[in-house]
Amino acid sequence: MTQRLIVVGGDAAGMAAASQARRRRGRADLEIVAFERGHHTSYSACGIPYWISGAVEDRDELIARDPATFRSDFDIDVRLRHEVTAIDLGRREVVARDLDGGGEVRERFDDLVYATGAVPTKPDWAEDGVAGVFGVQTLDDGAALRDWLDADPAPRRAVVVGGGYIGVEMAEALIRRGLSVTLVEQADQPMSTVDEDMAALVAEAMRGIGIDIRTGTEVTGLDQRDGRVSAVVTAAGPIPADVVVLGLGVRPNVALAETAGIPLGPSGAIRVDRRMRVPGAPGVWAAGDCAESLHRVSGLPVHIPLGTHANKQGRVAGINLGGGYATFPGVVGTAVTKVCELEVGRTGLRERDAAASGFEFVSVVAESTNRAGYYPGARPMTVKLIAERSSGRLLGAQIVGWSEAAKRIDALAVALWNGMTVDEMTGLDLGYAPPYAPVWDPVLIAARKAVDALDRR
Ligand SMILES: Cc1cc2nc3c(=O)[nH]c(=O)nc-3n(C[C@H](O)[C@H](O)[C@H](O)COP(=O)(O)OP(=O)(O)OC[C@H]3O[C@@H](n4cnc5c(N)ncnc54)[C@H](O)[C@@H]3O)c2cc1C
Repeated sequence: MTQRLIVVGGDAAGMAAASQARRRRGRADLEIVAFERGHHTSYSACGIPYWISGAVEDRDELIARDPATFRSDFDIDVRLRHEVTAIDLGRREVVARDLDGGGEVRERFDDLVYATGAVPTKPDWAEDGVAGVFGVQTLDDGAALRDWLDADPAPRRAVVVGGGYIGVEMAEALIRRGLSVTLVEQADQPMSTVDEDMAALVAEAMRGIGIDIRTGTEVTGLDQRDGRVSAVVTAAGPIPADVVVLGLGVRPNVALAETAGIPLGPSGAIRVDRRMRVPGAPGVWAAGDCAESLHRVSGLPVHIPLGTHANKQGRVAGINLGGGYATFPGVVGTAVTKVCELEVGRTGLRERDAAASGFEFVSVVAESTNRAGYYPGARPMTVKLIAERSSGRLLGAQIVGWSEAAKRIDALAVALWNGMTVDEMTGLDLGYAPPYAPVWDPVLIAARKAVDALDRR
């Protein structure tokens, strides 16, 4: 008998799962229906800041595969603008609302992939219906923001609320479009994904391109004129704004799962086993921003909502659904971003994570350059390493610097993944030529410095 797979959420994780399952099983064997409440499938939310800035001109370049391709090439029944409103695990069916046409459909499933992504944090003051306040979670959000920025007269003053990597990328995008930009952050530094000393370098670069950073500041409301935002309100006074962009982080989108009795893990995301099955809910799979991952360094379940994990997890679920065997090996928390030319990379545990996980550690910061000092364009690069005190094992790394900085974090991620000690790292055979590195690569200089620190312990 033909099996039925229902996918809830038609972006990275959901469609990776659906297409992998289809690659392994024909239509006579497996019928696939994917519900997506938005207007698009398989789009790159990661590209939104670059579309807003104008670095990417055409929105369609952000769409990896459209619904028509999924229908024609993968025989997947994609139902756009359909929101799944209930999952009945007992009756093995979902209820979906047609957001445009009205009405409801019920569909039976044998297997269900839950891939609903994450919900952006939206404070009460952003719910008041004042025009000019935007999130950037979906392509539709990005389109609404672009329309606002393209209007005549164009907005001149932007406030970005939240200094995580999305806030930082959006602040740069708006500066590039010629707006004056203020970034408001409740904490003492933007970029809390790295330690404070490294975040300070990022803040300095942001100020260097003209972004006004207000740290230790909370937005408590909005001022408006004729229904349009005119300022954000803070304890330190109003900050004028013609447009406000929210980058306040996300939480796993699990409300539907919770109501259905699909169990969550300690991180608040859906608990999964290494094949992306949900323990305690036979035939239910979860992947992407709604699911948790095992952190390979701390050993803890974590919620790290990134596209790189969503694609891999969806693929693993799809291979297993297709009758193959695949496992998701966990994460080490690698991430990269940039502020204009300044690149930022991180992997593993920050100091505060290492302390919270009970590690005793040393941390070192090494200053170097991205190229041989005599080679044109040599610029500073700062590498921070955190190593376990007793064993010398690398626990975490951060890099801030100019070109060739961000992707250097990959070498450190591989070292971390394989449990290398900083002593072993000092001998790594990394590439060297003057245009790409000094003769001692910044990573090797940092590893040597960490060994010295461990010797002095
Ligand atoms: C501005 C921005 C920049 C980013 N940059 C990066 C980056 O540089 N690198 C990186 O690794 N990650 C980045 N990310 C994160 C990355 O985009 C996400 O991790 C990834 O999209 C998660 O994929 P997903 O399929 O799990 O969830 P989503 O992409 O959120 O997709 C979930 C889908 O489910 C749909 N849905 C939800 N509920 C229902 C329902 N009840 N019924 C039907 N459909 C539903 C939603 O409409 C959505 O399309 C960025 C995100 C943003 C917003």
